[in-house]
Amino acid sequence: MTLTRTRVRVEGIVQGVGFRPFVHALAGRLGLAGLVGNDAGGVFVEVEGAAETVERFLEALATEAPPLAVIERLTATPLAPTGGHGFAIAPSQAGGERQTLVSPDTATCADCLRELADPADRRYRYPFINCTNCGPRFTIVRDVPYDRPATTMATFEMCADCAREYSDPADRRFHAQPVCCPACGPALALLDREGRPAAGDPLAEAAARLREGAVVAVKGLGGYHLAADAASEPAVAALRARKHREDKPFAVMVADLDTARALGQVDPAEAAMLTSPRRPIVLLRRRPPGSGAAVAASVAPGNRSLGVMLPYTPLHHLLLAEVGRPIVLTSGNVSDEPIAYLDDEARERLGGIADWFLTHDRPIHVRADDSVVRAFGGRELPLRRSRGFAPQPLGLPWPFPRHVLACGAELKHTFCLAKDGHAFLSNHIGDLENYETYRSFTEGVEHFRRLFAVEPVVVAHDLHPEYLSTKYALELEGVGLEGVQHHHAHVAACLADNGEPGPVLGVAFDGLGYGPDGTIWGGELLVADLESFRRVGHLELVPMPGGTAAIKEPWRMAAAWLDAAFEGRVPQRLNVVGRNRARWERVVALARSGTASPATSSAGRLFDAVAAILGVRDTINYEGQAAVELEQLADPSETAAYRVRITGPDVDGGLLRLGGTDLVRAVVSDVTAGVAAPLVAARFHNGLAGATVAACQQLRDTTGLGTAALSGGVFQNMLLLERTVAALEQEGFRVLVHSRVPPNDGGISLGQAAVAAARDRAAGQGR
Ligand SMILES: [Zn+2]
Ligand SMILES: [Zn+2]
Repeated sequence: MTLTRTRVRVEGIVQGVGFRPFVHALAGRLGLAGLVGNDAGGVFVEVEGAAETVERFLEALATEAPPLAVIERLTATPLAPTGGHGFAIAPSQAGGERQTLVSPDTATCADCLRELADPADRRYRYPFINCTNCGPRFTIVRDVPYDRPATTMATFEMCADCAREYSDPADRRFHAQPVCCPACGPALALLDREGRPAAGDPLAEAAARLREGAVVAVKGLGGYHLAADAASEPAVAALRARKHREDKPFAVMVADLDTARALGQVDPAEAAMLTSPRRPIVLLRRRPPGSGAAVAASVAPGNRSLGVMLPYTPLHHLLLAEVGRPIVLTSGNVSDEPIAYLDDEARERLGGIADWFLTHDRPIHVRADDSVVRAFGGRELPLRRSRGFAPQPLGLPWPFPRHVLACGAELKHTFCLAKDGHAFLSNHIGDLENYETYRSFTEGVEHFRRLFAVEPVVVAHDLHPEYLSTKYALELEGVGLEGVQHHHAHVAACLADNGEPGPVLGVAFDGLGYGPDGTIWGGELLVADLESFRRVGHLELVPMPGGTAAIKEPWRMAAAWLDAAFEGRVPQRLNVVGRNRARWERVVALARSGTASPATSSAGRLFDAVAAILGVRDTINYEGQAAVELEQLADPSETAAYRVRITGPDVDGGLLRLGGTDLVRAVVSDVTAGVAAPLVAARFHNGLAGATVAACQQLRDTTGLGTAALSGGVFQNMLLLERTVAALEQEGFRVLVHSRVPPNDGGISLGQAAVAAARDRAAGQGR
């Protein structure tokens, strides 16, 4: 028999996922000698034995890898045989260029759940049980290589039993960095607002307080949540009042899939999302009131969807079982601040909201909010990509010739670091409007740079000069700057999401984005590829009376749109005029004067205007609220659509214009005729979808492009998205929508990074 020895490098998500024990067991089974170890580049293996056995080993490496492993590259190089025996686990090696991918936090696995429920197991009911296949990862990692000293578990010294499991290659907990037990690991505590421990078992006491209607702060994986009994109207109302969150829906955590089904309709795609190891919040179509398990009205007022998630830590499993019914579980913060994740900070910031703190002594290193997804066309449509997803890289079919940092936009902020074929999209940072989120952004960039060894040479940013993310980019020295227009970044994000280079007809509908022509864009038709774009059409322009005041007060947009649609002769009997009569003329005059009233083509602002005209609301309490509620109001069975004229391209510098004023006049006509609001809202949605498709058809004729890419926050509106996609497909278009990053500004940084890399490739960089 001829002996061969082969060195294998395995790159990808291969640390902290049980890869070395898997290799060890595989080599043992095949009777191969050698070693396996971690280094900054991933996993290295040397195997020695008969050539055909080594072949079988290499095959099995790829096909039998552990569930959480993601192998990106396997390279094998021949070595001279050494004649050694046995198979060893080599110590981790620091240094070298870091290529390792850190795994996202992962929901408790079935094996651990079984032990958690087994009275004979030494981790019976232990809230921190985990193994190589599950548990905290990204949120506890301080540095790479991913080993216990580089995590927030460093201070917990393993007991003899845990140490034995940790060092036994045959054990499920072999080199599981967060491994621990009641004898040596973190412990729960229930504290009052002053930090004094409550008497009794923390878990049982916390559950009892919840059942009595208290608000309890619960320390989770990526931060503190605020919990309340979801069935109790007074408890949920108290939580809303103290958190200063008037209307924005809360998510609920339920014990299992059956309970989720009692609250909402769950199709197979949604069931898969709910039970996936990522465990996002899934927006379900709510069951009508009176059917099945009840949640209090103020959990998600006036909303046909309900955000539902299943337990993803052992603590959640135990707590849900103890409480015995669904709980509201919402980010631990006041209104729009970042989620609290440090213990002292949490007690200080949440002390006015929570009656009790169910906490523990395992530190959280990185803040990570719950992710939010919904199903569209049987696929996942992410609305917030954070815990469970970040920092898993997005693979792209094109290389990044130089290392890129993309700074993102402002609202729902994320940033993105990229190199080679990987884009590392950050966890959700929040609205980049204050010091706390700004610090979270800058510290996050530094952390990602270290973890993934990205040294940005190119920095991509939005064109808006007032965004903190733009200012940050402009202050960096020694880097190349790449400004990317906001809506081009949206369309590029959709292209990158789908792994397509374009060109496409890009439809970018959102709230607001900086336009290079001095107007505020937001209802845009672009011919775009990754590298560049050309604006070919947009929604009609109207003034935004008072600028940002018009965002918070949708009735101002109604005033502007009505004034434009009726050329000054607005029907005075409209309720929206009556409700705002005191300020109406002043706001119309402001709009006409152009003072503090920038012109906008925003689709989001048109939704605001129609919502106000229909009496949905005149002012908002959270971003996009009027548009969200207009969608909720619409009757999905209505198929009639308002007609919209498309003018151009002979006027207005060659651009098509979608007649928003036609929609507004049609809405007013139906409202005046007494047509029910749900029908009017639906006809408006259908009309805008129809206008979009008609414009795309016209553009297809002139450009020959038959693929449309839909992006921007307005396409979180499921009714608009469904109607637009269906009509485009009916007309023979290929339609690209999002499935890996959100259509809202949370996906912008990926688009910016993709644009920067495409420009690099076009300029011949990296050759
Ligand atoms: Zn496990
Ligand atoms: Zn232990």
